[in-house]
Amino acid sequence: MAAFRPTFAACVFDGLRTLTHAAVDFVYPPACPFCGRETQQASRRTRFDSELCLICRDRIAPQTEHVCHRCGAPVGPHLNTTGGCIHCRRDRFNFDRVYSLGVYEDAMKSACLQAKRASGQPLAAAVAGLLWERQQEALKSEQIELVVAVPKHWTQRIGVRPNAAETLAEALARRLQVEFGRHILTKVRRTLPQSKLPSYRRRSNLRRAFRVRQPDAIKGATVLLVDDILTTGTTANEVSRALRKSGADRVIVAVPARGIGR
Ligand SMILES: [Zn+2]
Ligand SMILES: [Zn+2]
Repeated sequence: MAAFRPTFAACVFDGLRTLTHAAVDFVYPPACPFCGRETQQASRRTRFDSELCLICRDRIAPQTEHVCHRCGAPVGPHLNTTGGCIHCRRDRFNFDRVYSLGVYEDAMKSACLQAKRASGQPLAAAVAGLLWERQQEALKSEQIELVVAVPKHWTQRIGVRPNAAETLAEALARRLQVEFGRHILTKVRRTLPQSKLPSYRRRSNLRRAFRVRQPDAIKGATVLLVDDILTTGTTANEVSRALRKSGADRVIVAVPARGIGR
């Protein structure tokens, strides 16, 4: 592949853009997308550079030292989670492991709900930034080659662009410096909301709902699958099944929020 060399015009454009952002930041200092307080952030160059203030970081995701390597749930300090934890031991997953930021409760729950709104893109990007800040060494070590988001059916996308899972996925792909495969996966039929169903109906609700449109793009690859919340893992599991069936070698899941309880 030929090396990319920016043109003189591109350099001038970049310089002007930086000056414009600096001027805007001077008049309107970057604000936390969750509480609106001014942040320590020097400047914000793109919509993916939004940052949470220090108070909201701790409110949304208090530092959790010990999580289950298999399902991302918080666990006690001395528990060996090689075979899973109390939340996942009985489950069989098509993904290899889960990286999560915190439990789906209190401020994390509000942040996830706000990030789903039409104006929630800066908050979703900031939450992805915090996930990256806390887990980047581990995520880098997974040697991820492609990032995808859990897709929505086209009828569920009307009026709710952008999808929070896509914003999270795109923000993580930029940090990992790998491709975000926006069109690789599709949801081929409408399904009932998983949260409204008893656990025994969740799997049949999603059966054959996801399809890989571009199998060549994932053959033999380590794929990072991103969603906003993981509760029972059924959705991530069904998408992972489709990815595996189409030839993905490994599927790693990343979510900001781990929902505990069924
Ligand atoms: Zn804040
Ligand atoms: Zn577990």
